[in-house]
Amino acid sequence: MVSSLSGPPHAPAAAPADGGDRANLEFGRTVIERLDTPVWLFDIDRARVVWANPSGLRMWRAESLEDLVARDMSADMSASVRARLRQYRADFERNDARFSEVWTLYPAGVPTTLRVIFSGHRLDDGRMGMLCEALAEINDTPERLRSAEALLHTPVMITLYDPRGRALYRNPASRQARARGGEAFSDRFVDPADHERIVEALRTSGTALTQARVTTAQGHRWHEISARHCHDAVSGLPALLVSETDVTGHKAAEAQVRYLAEHDTLTGLPNRSVIAPEIARRLAAADRDGSRVAILFVDLDRFKTINDSLGHPVGDGLLVAVSRRLAEAVRAEDFLARLGGDEFLVCLSLADDENRAAAVARRILEVLDRPLRIGDLDLSVTASIGISLYPRDGRDLDTLMRHADLAMYNAKTLGCARWEVFTQAMKAEVEAQLMLESSLRRALEFGEFEVYYQPRLEIGSERIVGTEALLRWHHPTLGLVLPGAFIPFAEKTGLIDRIGACVLREAALQQRAWAAEGHDISVSVNLSARQFRDPRLAGIVADVVTETGCDPRLLQIEITESMLMGNDETSAATLRALADLGLSIAIDDFGTGYSNLGTIQRHPIDTLKIDRSFVATLETRPALAELIIGMCRLLDMKIVAEGVETEEQLAWLKARNCHEYQGYLFCPAIPADDFAELLRRQREILSAGGDRDARSPLWDLVPLVKRACDVDWSSPSAPSKVRRLEIGGAVEAFVRRDRD
Ligand code: C2E
Ligand code: MG
Ligand code: MG
Repeated sequence: MVSSLSGPPHAPAAAPADGGDRANLEFGRTVIERLDTPVWLFDIDRARVVWANPSGLRMWRAESLEDLVARDMSADMSASVRARLRQYRADFERNDARFSEVWTLYPAGVPTTLRVIFSGHRLDDGRMGMLCEALAEINDTPERLRSAEALLHTPVMITLYDPRGRALYRNPASRQARARGGEAFSDRFVDPADHERIVEALRTSGTALTQARVTTAQGHRWHEISARHCHDAVSGLPALLVSETDVTGHKAAEAQVRYLAEHDTLTGLPNRSVIAPEIARRLAAADRDGSRVAILFVDLDRFKTINDSLGHPVGDGLLVAVSRRLAEAVRAEDFLARLGGDEFLVCLSLADDENRAAAVARRILEVLDRPLRIGDLDLSVTASIGISLYPRDGRDLDTLMRHADLAMYNAKTLGCARWEVFTQAMKAEVEAQLMLESSLRRALEFGEFEVYYQPRLEIGSERIVGTEALLRWHHPTLGLVLPGAFIPFAEKTGLIDRIGACVLREAALQQRAWAAEGHDISVSVNLSARQFRDPRLAGIVADVVTETGCDPRLLQIEITESMLMGNDETSAATLRALADLGLSIAIDDFGTGYSNLGTIQRHPIDTLKIDRSFVATLETRPALAELIIGMCRLLDMKIVAEGVETEEQLAWLKARNCHEYQGYLFCPAIPADDFAELLRRQREILSAGGDRDARSPLWDLVPLVKRACDVDWSSPSAPSKVRRLEIGGAVEAFVRRDRD
């Protein structure tokens, strides 16, 4: 036991001394006892002095050795001092370390600053103790005393190296971090390049600041290292002062933050932010070895329906399950990421197999084929996949992604649950659509649209009682473009909202203008599905009625049967609101939809327009036309026949009490001015008492057809009336002659 030690330090018991040695030892003890230098032996584990020479006792202000030995020094010993002492002991164990430091001790509470030399010394029981010699009491300025203390206690590791990189001085923190064998500065770096970088920075600017992985007693750690050239205060020779702080914790936090930033929190897959650098790296690698890369866009089919109907937690669960399945379909070296929503991206290197892209796409469809268990639900999901290949389909990521997306979109239009490889034809189609979209915008801006009017005649009286507003586009290079070529697209892009509003307003203004001239003409306007679904529709129509001052009872809205399917409540409310405004509502193209008579009857609908396909096939399939007319009669509404081209058709309709008709037999859609001319002539005839056959004298005006494209000349059943026009010569010439 150390506490039994009452004499000066002695050699470990394991090495018994012979006669001569014993005499020498005795001499040594006497010398130490007599020394003016305070010397004491410290038991690090028990934080007690176990022995001191008389000078040491004086320094410690102890009355006797027993008094000193009884003092428990751990009471006011800070954790850092405790750790440092343990480090000293490790140093003593490791090598015969000996170092000198300025310490402030507190014997009986009085601060006493000393330069102390520490060395290792085995205690009685073989444990490593610490022999301390106080060289001198330091009566330095408070600043110096405090800075010396700070250097001892700071966690910053400070080391002074000589020009060959050997340590001249280490503060305790530096000593504590020093790894076995890591004596030289250059030996400390895990990556030698970090050391070279520091050396280079020192060479050029005299200082260096970097973060590097270094070998320490605690293993590999990240240190922030600041190094600068200086001079050794003792020798005056050049030296290198290095201070280091451990930033491993920050690095880990940084790595965590980076992980979170680069990964999708739901599926754990890399997210959009990583895609660009990762794919750039893969493309560069493919360039180097002349191989190809495939980009696969995977988009789940009808995911929104699942999400909306089963709730977001189920939707999230499905995405996680899908991401796991996708991982099954690719190899570890492939890149799988979540683009967002229900879109995933796979990047494959095709170095070893050119057909792998298709194989992986097939595999993805296969792995998704098995039901996915989400909670207690078994869900089925399919995906549409688009593939683009580097370098064939694009040389940069942006192009490749766009093309893969396009191919995916194509897979969707072809019925989903399939994959498509990008082709130039897909691109051409999209470009054409983009062109069309910008042309439509320009058309709106530059007023290239014009509303034409096709007369609607009462069959019994052969008088014009109404008209249908039909949109025409005066394209600067293509000439007159019919709505079939652009309305569906305008609907898809949403441009129909603006276009439709213009047509409605124009028709309302026209109705008012004709009314002002004394013509009670009902004007009907076609609505697209998108316009009809818009809950603001009734409000928009009401505004138009107010602003234009038109008579809402002479304004008619045409919708198709299909628009009434599904969204019953909204449709009902809209139709009711429109009817309340005074408008009449017609079902256009009647007979081509589901013809759910029950649905039609539930709404305030007053007109059915028999689709022209039934009129056209009247002669060949009269039974069908009879059926349609029969349905109209059942519903007891006004019946309008569309596309009447021959006298025979008209006679047939008249015989079945069809109320009104429109068609090329009388007149195609014509500009508003020409229509006004028709109305004027009709009035003249009627006022002249020619009310027996008001239509015939009006025929003179029919060549108001301005351009060939106003009429479908290619139709095999070219209308008799139109044919007559053709026989009469070129339409253009005819029109001019008629006009002039
Ligand atoms: P729709 O509403 O059924 O209009 C009747 C279509 O038949 C018109 O074609 C008209 O020119 C054509 N037509 C009239 N008589 C005959 C005939 O005797 N023989 C033949 N073969 N065709 C005849 P158009 O003007 O090309 O319009 C096509 C469709 O475009 C319209 O069908 C309508 O659904 C839509 N549409 C036209 N204007 C607008 C509009 O302003 N807004 C919306 N949303 N759709 C419109
Ligand atoms: Mg119509
Ligand atoms: Mg129609």
